[in-house]
Amino acid sequence: MKQIALYGKGGIGKSTTSANLSAALAESGLDILQIGCDPKHDSTRMLMHGSRIPTVLDLIREQGDKNLTVDDVVHQGFSGVRCVEAGGPEPGIGCAGRGIIATFQLLERLSALDGDVIVYDVLGDVVCGGFAMPMREGYAQEVYLVTSGELMSIYAANNIAKAITRLSKRVRSNCRLGGVICNAKNIEGERELVAEFAKRINSSLIAYIPRDRVVQLAEVHKQTVLEYAPDSEQAAVYRRLADELARNTRTSIPTPLDDDELDAFALESIQV
Ligand code: ADP
Ligand code: SF4
Ligand code: MG
Repeated sequence: MKQIALYGKGGIGKSTTSANLSAALAESGLDILQIGCDPKHDSTRMLMHGSRIPTVLDLIREQGDKNLTVDDVVHQGFSGVRCVEAGGPEPGIGCAGRGIIATFQLLERLSALDGDVIVYDVLGDVVCGGFAMPMREGYAQEVYLVTSGELMSIYAANNIAKAITRLSKRVRSNCRLGGVICNAKNIEGERELVAEFAKRINSSLIAYIPRDRVVQLAEVHKQTVLEYAPDSEQAAVYRRLADELARNTRTSIPTPLDDDELDAFALESIQV
């Protein structure tokens, strides 16, 4: 079983990319489980045709975890992708890093962490105890950083790289960087910029996903691009991404940039 995690800044396109990746992997005959690990809990929405499935943390809060079954937490979406939303801490209360752990403990107890590939879609703005947990506890074995050429998303990606470097030293974690995915925002020289960032952190640009209006069109129709426009060029991009990630065996321990290096990189990128 391959366990892939997409980490990145909020709004960068993790859920869009994850859902289309899962759909493309499922299309090739693989059994896929997608787990949204973002309090926004909309990771699997397009796979579920717009409906928001109950989050595991809400179910645990409301019913306790004793009587919950696999059917309460795992929902079948487009192309047979099995969907889970971990949910998040209660606003204004927090969770001291324990939020997502409760979800994983429940999924383990229900023997629901199975399939050919598990795709984790994880918020990377805060690499706190809670959101680093899939990496720390050995679930997110291959981490892919989703970023555009915008400095704020590169900054977030660099922070996640820092977490991977730290956690790679722990025996239990076994977490490695699989590569960098550029989800384009149509910035000049964006592909080269993100490729250069990937190289500097001892990784590589594994996929370039163009910005395409069909993504929004699919979204208003509450579908993945794979379902809404299966013959589009964007669907082909997601299929290539799926193929690339399914085959990838090259991972690395990143060498994240320190603050001065990041500032220098920002300056260079503006002057290019
Ligand atoms: P995240 O999960 O990182 O918070 P989302 O996947 O929800 O981000 O994406 C945020 C917005 O960006 C969505 O409205 C989505 O339609 C749009 N988006 C993501 N990727 C693309 C793309 N390649 N082309 C066009 N729009 C995109
Ligand atoms: Fe959020 Fe992390 Fe604090 Fe939990 S520990 S409330 S996930 S910031
Ligand atoms: Mg999301």
